[in-house]
Amino acid sequence: MTNRRRRAGTFRTGAVAVAAVALLTTGVTGAVATTPADSVRQSTTVSAQAELPDDSWWGVRDGKTTTPYNEYNPGYKFGCNGDQRHKGLDIGAPTGTTIHAWGSGKVVGTGYDDGGYHRWIQVYFPSIDMSMTLGHLLDGSQLKVGSTFEKGDVWAKVGTEADGLNHPHVHYRASKGNHGEAAIGPCEDMDPFVIWDALGLPA
Ligand SMILES: [Zn+2]
Repeated sequence: MTNRRRRAGTFRTGAVAVAAVALLTTGVTGAVATTPADSVRQSTTVSAQAELPDDSWWGVRDGKTTTPYNEYNPGYKFGCNGDQRHKGLDIGAPTGTTIHAWGSGKVVGTGYDDGGYHRWIQVYFPSIDMSMTLGHLLDGSQLKVGSTFEKGDVWAKVGTEADGLNHPHVHYRASKGNHGEAAIGPCEDMDPFVIWDALGLPA
């Protein structure tokens, strides 16, 4: 089974508590500015050079694949044609975990589907002419239609088991083209890794 794990381990570069050094140098000009170790993660400034967090996997910090793309299960009810394949990639992570943009693009659709996707957004990447739907999001956490984003920005947060999920996760569904504001996506789907790869992200 192909398991395209981008990184084998987890990285917690920001986890080390840095004790602030109190410089009791009253009267000295040029006060020392201390920089919290985590401030780099909380930047509100968007730039083309934004990066995914070091410890993210498929854009989700400490995420892990819980259901791979195309997995067959006779119990599934997915698909436009009675297909019982999993038409996406599930990345499990605790409710509220931030989901980061894989590249630059625009939110072209958003909605709520109580039968399957729950809260979802659809994003479009103009540079590669591909779209991706993110499902099972935390209500109110998602970017709105028309929002643009750069790599590393927050798309949304992982949703809750209260939606009937057996575990919190984001479902990524990938397809070609731009499907407009209302559609979740066409029947055609492809491995989200195709988008990951097309955006030049490390395998
Ligand atoms: Zn799924």
